[in-house]
Amino acid sequence: MTSQNKKILALDLGGSKMLSAFVEVTVDGKGERATKLSAISKRPLSKDSGKEGVWNAILSAVDESFAKSEEKWDAIDGIGVTIPGVADPVRGFWKYAPFSGISNFPIGDELQLKYGRPVYADNDVNACAWGEKVFGVCQNVDNYVWITISNGIGGGLVLNGRIFPGKFAGAAEIGHFNVVEDGELCGCGNRGCLEATAAGPAIARAYRKLVEKTFSNDADPELRREWINYLVKNNNGSLSEAALLRDALDASSGATAATIADEARQGNPLATKVFRDTGKYVGRAASWATNLLNLEKVIIGGGVAGAFDVFYPSLWETFQKCLFKQANQTVTVEKTGLGYEAGLLGAAALAFDNPYGHA
Ligand SMILES: [Zn+2]
Repeated sequence: MTSQNKKILALDLGGSKMLSAFVEVTVDGKGERATKLSAISKRPLSKDSGKEGVWNAILSAVDESFAKSEEKWDAIDGIGVTIPGVADPVRGFWKYAPFSGISNFPIGDELQLKYGRPVYADNDVNACAWGEKVFGVCQNVDNYVWITISNGIGGGLVLNGRIFPGKFAGAAEIGHFNVVEDGELCGCGNRGCLEATAAGPAIARAYRKLVEKTFSNDADPELRREWINYLVKNNNGSLSEAALLRDALDASSGATAATIADEARQGNPLATKVFRDTGKYVGRAASWATNLLNLEKVIIGGGVAGAFDVFYPSLWETFQKCLFKQANQTVTVEKTGLGYEAGLLGAAALAFDNPYGHA
């Protein structure tokens, strides 16, 4: 592990946006690392941006980061890049992105040519997994899986202290573990994948369905009563039960994983049930990964990790039920230590201490 201070230009490329920022890493006498993010610039991306659109967004965001700060290229030690899709990390090559259709983009070489600094790239989920080892809660952990839960579900695997990419950079596709037989259709073409069952859009869909069912004649009477009690308690008494139910039904169409988590925290029994189910599915998937690989930690990141407090109890209960405990007595499931800017810190981690050992 490297122990010197570094200044890194971090680029986090996603499906809907890209971010550019400087990450200053300082290492104290005890080897403790601190990161400071500055001059964050954001550009929108769409699935139609294409290579040229992505490239132009990068150039203009990087220009803005420099304009916002006092930084000079001379002080930048390297560039870290996250790629939203399949990457060849050693060549810094963007092989393919199912979302945008971008393929065969030598983004590492092009950035190196343009800016004259070493470039380190990897798939976004692997970068986040590595960020956890370099800056987060896995600094002394060599065997763990990172699970991103956001619009989809991805996994990044670190084994024996190194990223394990698999034969075609397709390891740890935990989002496509089958958790429900003949369940919801997944983007991959199969049914009942974890991604189709427990990612952000799946949580919103499950909540809408449960609200509709509980509103209808097909409702579980006990759950309906609990729901009405909750709605009445949170109202000033001016609306009838029928009006409250109608309002809740209307509101459910705009609900997101984040708003549903807030509802659960306030005691909405339908939101609580949906997140209890989410925790069960993720817990089961996490137990399979752990039973297969004898992991020390399972880390949950991505936007839905903001609801970790809500789904952790059922996740942990199910995880424990499915775990081969004799070999996995100390394993924990934790929320990411990288916070909201995990992608930028993941990109910086690639450049600070490259897991593939290239320069
Ligand atoms: Zn799938």
